[in-house]
Amino acid sequence: MRNERFNVDSVIEALKSCLPIEQEKVALHEPYFGGNEWKYVKECIDTGWVSSVGKYVDQFEQKLAEYTGVKRAVAVVNGTAALHVALKIAGVIKDDEVIVPTLTFIATTNAITYCGGIPHFADCEERTLGLDPYKLDVYLQEIAEVKTDGCFNKKTGRRIKAVLPMHTFGHPVDLDPLVEVCQKFKLELIEDAAESLGSFYKGRHTGNWGKLSTLSFNGNKTITTGGGGAILTNDEELGKMAKHITTTAKLPHKWDFYHDQVGFNYRLPNINAALGCAQLEQLPEFLAQKRILAERYIERFSSMHGMKIFRETNFSKSNYWLNVLLLESDYKQYRDTILEATNIAGIMTRPAWILMHKLSMFTSCPHMDLAVAENIEARLINIPSSVKLSKHRM
Ligand SMILES: *Cc1c(COP(=O)(O)O)cnc(C)c1O
Repeated sequence: MRNERFNVDSVIEALKSCLPIEQEKVALHEPYFGGNEWKYVKECIDTGWVSSVGKYVDQFEQKLAEYTGVKRAVAVVNGTAALHVALKIAGVIKDDEVIVPTLTFIATTNAITYCGGIPHFADCEERTLGLDPYKLDVYLQEIAEVKTDGCFNKKTGRRIKAVLPMHTFGHPVDLDPLVEVCQKFKLELIEDAAESLGSFYKGRHTGNWGKLSTLSFNGNKTITTGGGGAILTNDEELGKMAKHITTTAKLPHKWDFYHDQVGFNYRLPNINAALGCAQLEQLPEFLAQKRILAERYIERFSSMHGMKIFRETNFSKSNYWLNVLLLESDYKQYRDTILEATNIAGIMTRPAWILMHKLSMFTSCPHMDLAVAENIEARLINIPSSVKLSKHRM
């Protein structure tokens, strides 16, 4: 009786009307190579500079820093490695707790455990799909104690070292109040900006707010290097340290191999950086195309019952990396029906990640009330968002 108007075919119809008609199978997020990719990659091969050093690595790092407005960007093999090193450099050590949203991709949480740290799961807010700074504040007032040497969890006795928010599907978290909470409780802010290259909070790029931040250039991200990532920071010293420990911690010398600590071989190969340089040149165009598609979805779904396309807040500019179809609460029982029918129809859709605190490795980790994240998880569907989908329509 309540939802007699629900008809899965109307959802498929609405999606199709926003997508290029000639396409039989529509992926969630495909890379787009429309610039100097061939030229730059060919140059790497022709000159032999394909591996651990080369001009494209330097160029890519410089262009990334310029675009995001940070002092230093360090290119690495992937976003997970970037997170590992950012947390390590921020001082996360064994048995430190790190506050992280339960609604995130596994990489964010894994990186905490690589440092010996313990994820401490936080809830999201529906406005941003990201970590809720107000709820976190109230929660920390209850469970945390700030001492001269940092913030401590009164329940576990462990130090809480950092907060690691993630800009979900490209939508910036509410950074101003979050920065305040971090200052109040002496917590380091590290942003997982893997999904938010091209997203701005109050005019300043995401990833330019934390002590350190990270990007990913995996094949499904806004720009890709095949695989790749970067660490961003405004602290020159931390930037140097990031470069040093991601390149085996070797001291420069004409022939001696002297390493002054245990480092990592996390550097991005030149051939991948070449792809990155070509992709970065097209970023403004990619963002414009992605916005066209998002606006088309928003418009089309505005007349649908029981669901809407998630929109950026008035304090942010989103890259609309992955568009979100959000069902109203009394439509959430149709989530799987929609997933099933759209995928059968050749339109790839997928649900949100299973929340981190539900995964067997993390069930014993501390967490606050996670009701909002649970509710979002049950109602969220990602829909096709590739750059090329906005083009050649009809
Ligand atoms: C993509 C992604 C990463 C990094 O993934 P890699 O595949 O290692 O580059 C990290 N966090 C989030 C939220 C991501 O979506």
